[in-house]
Amino acid sequence: MKGPPPSGSAAIAAQQRLVEEVAAQRESVLQACWAHQLWRRGELRTAGGSTLEVIAPGWLNRGAGPDFTEARLLLDGTEHWGDVEIHVHEREWWAHGHHNDPAYGRVILHVVLKRGERPALQPVSGEIIPVFEAGPVLSAQVLETMHDPEALLERYETLPGRCGLRAARQGGDALARVIAHASETRARNKAEAAAPVLAAAGEEEGLFQLMFRYLGYRPFAPFFRALAERYPLATLAPLLDLPMAEARTAILARWFGAAGLLDRDPGDSSEPADPGATPASPASLAWLDPGARSEYAALRECWLELGTPPLVEKLPKGGSRPWNAAERRMVGMFHHLHAMARGGWLKEWLAFLLRLDRLRNHPNFTKEAAETLDRVFATPESETWRFRVTFAHPPKKRAARLIGPERVAMLMANAVLPFFLARARRDGDRELEKVLYRLYLVLPPESANHRTRFMEHRMGPFSLPKRSLRTHQGLLQIHTDFCTSFHHGCENCGLPDLIGR
Ligand code: SF4
Repeated sequence: MKGPPPSGSAAIAAQQRLVEEVAAQRESVLQACWAHQLWRRGELRTAGGSTLEVIAPGWLNRGAGPDFTEARLLLDGTEHWGDVEIHVHEREWWAHGHHNDPAYGRVILHVVLKRGERPALQPVSGEIIPVFEAGPVLSAQVLETMHDPEALLERYETLPGRCGLRAARQGGDALARVIAHASETRARNKAEAAAPVLAAAGEEEGLFQLMFRYLGYRPFAPFFRALAERYPLATLAPLLDLPMAEARTAILARWFGAAGLLDRDPGDSSEPADPGATPASPASLAWLDPGARSEYAALRECWLELGTPPLVEKLPKGGSRPWNAAERRMVGMFHHLHAMARGGWLKEWLAFLLRLDRLRNHPNFTKEAAETLDRVFATPESETWRFRVTFAHPPKKRAARLIGPERVAMLMANAVLPFFLARARRDGDRELEKVLYRLYLVLPPESANHRTRFMEHRMGPFSLPKRSLRTHQGLLQIHTDFCTSFHHGCENCGLPDLIGR
């Protein structure tokens, strides 16, 4: 038989034990409590004394950034919407560097089990973020039922949205129509964004600049953009006419040098401070394998002869898988340009897009399209970077493509198709426009990301259309237009009505 509830100091001690118990487990317990709002009954308050009402806890985010996005809260009766970050200890905000990370710039509430000495500050505005201390409102009864917080989180994450429930009633065609419409909107938006680049930079240069923006992992974009401005295609074109080995050294010396990857003196024999760091100039040539050493020396010599400083924009350290290192992308781009840009890059691309369009009715189009795209970004067998990740890493045993299918899909969706669509619209070229829309429907998609996976959970598992560039882009557009614009979860979202129409 249970005794009477503890009171006074016994109750405080019992609550303290509960907090320690939760703290000993992972953050996921607290995340599950937030997702399902499993607190003791009664009014919730922030540590600053404001009343807290949770209208929507937000979408669980398994990717980088805050734990819950697009939450909707009432603080002292005033509505706020934004992100929620959850930590066992308040000090983790600082320990994890969120105060310097703009991805946390929309956090409106810091949910913590234990208070620290310093409240979290907004990385963008520098303002104090309200804190909700969850320890005092944890309920032993609720926690007893929580044997598997991960399962609770997964259930929360995979709940269908109102759109998914409506799609289940209406059937797959209605949903496919809405996704197709959203993907067209996205294609149009991207073409509109590409139009000023085309107008300002001109034809080949415009395509060059757009491709560089999407050449690497997203945080690399400012660097690649600056690199394309430092060395526009017009300045590289005469170098591309040199024999392959000379062209390669001349162009890679410029790109690697501008990235600060050639700033170590070959005579410097000090040990690398961080051998695993990438990207990084190698600390000592003695440390490199012989092939890399001679290449490094040749590139550096060429770079020093130019007498120009590296770019101010730095390549961010780490953040991407080693095979996706910026160095590999630059080498891959060199081969693409060398293969296609010497006799009129735009003409080559147009001919290629038409060839791809003719394949459209091929019974195995996806495979054929992927192989054709592979050839456009192919790398010669003799290229040593097929085995290398950076100068700072020993070569790998197996080769890998420098610009893989994932990045090719990204380049097609964000640079090539928008560029040619903007050009076709400018020139009133209806035929080309039709070709581009057709390709948009059938080209292979990028891999799923946390936003498309989120949409698949919310809309599926009922009857999502087959994965293609169109579906991928349509889901992204819906995520932007609906899931991040209706700041109250699914309530009042307009998409279910669109599906029903
Ligand atoms: S907000 Fe709208 S689009 Fe997003 S999951 Fe809910 S109903 Fe679907």
